[in-house]
Amino acid sequence: QEPAGVTVIGLGPMGRAMAAAFLDRGHPVTVWNRTAARADGLVARGAVRAADVGEALAANEVVVLSLTDHAAMYALLGPAAPALHGRVIVNLGSDTPERAREAARWLTGHGAHHLTGGVQSDPSGIGSPGSSTFYSGPEEVFRLHRGTLRVLTDTTYLGEDPGLAALYYQLQMNLFWTSLLGWLQTLAMAGAHGITAADLLPHTETESLAAMFRYYSPRIDADDHTGGAERLSMEVASVGHVVATAAEAGVDTTLPSALLALSRRGLDAGYAESSFTSLVRILAKPSD
Ligand code: NDP
Repeated sequence: QEPAGVTVIGLGPMGRAMAAAFLDRGHPVTVWNRTAARADGLVARGAVRAADVGEALAANEVVVLSLTDHAAMYALLGPAAPALHGRVIVNLGSDTPERAREAARWLTGHGAHHLTGGVQSDPSGIGSPGSSTFYSGPEEVFRLHRGTLRVLTDTTYLGEDPGLAALYYQLQMNLFWTSLLGWLQTLAMAGAHGITAADLLPHTETESLAAMFRYYSPRIDADDHTGGAERLSMEVASVGHVVATAAEAGVDTTLPSALLALSRRGLDAGYAESSFTSLVRILAKPSD
């Protein structure tokens, strides 16, 4: 079977990597980008540059969107809406689950199919094994085009709800950004003492975090926050020492102070002798 033609709209670092991956695998590729020059390298490699969004939509059934957010999608596709009929719009731009559902309704209203995707890779992982993308939307549409989408990354299909892939993506992003900011805070504190990121790397233990996720997940799902050797009161004392160490180093204390404030709300709620995981109950509600 001949590789299917694909249109890629949005040629930031991700869209360019995606169009290149399709070209590498012999797919005919049509591209369009607001800043036309970003398509030059791809056109030199054999991609077709569409003159406008309507032409890009008309070129292929499968249209991959790699835009900053859904607002960009409406800005681009709105004026070309009649050309949406019969297209499969694979929306790989990040946005909220509710906006993904809204986008699916809007696209379905124009006679298009919509697949939401949440890519768990940076551009360097596109087209190489090991990374995966969350997808949700009509299962039949996904199955029909899974082979083409696998050119980009492996696929993880989550269900019909178009919001699901966006939700799983944002859940990963929350963990990603909070972890990375925690690391940067650590580096700022280390840097104040002349310790570099490279110095610290051999002592940066991430395996123990993965082990904790595995150990605590079934307990959290069972709403079991029984404290033992580890208790929230101990965690609050420990985070207090982190705040004081950051203050002594003369670096910003916003992040550890926020952790301390959250943890103290757990004490106020009576969880001092419970596991620190009881904080998930605090986090499950908006703060007053
Ligand atoms: P960029 O923000 O660099 O590229 C976004 C693209 O959207 C560009 O082609 C840009 O056009 C276009 N665009 C933005 N606003 C408009 C608008 N109003 N009208 C027309 N075009 C618009 O993003 P990336 O390529 O890095 O990422 C694309 C998506 O993938 C984002 O949603 C991002 O969150 C997600 N993602 C990115 C990852 C990464 O590592 N970069 C990893 C996983 C997901 P122009 O070139 O003209 O500015």
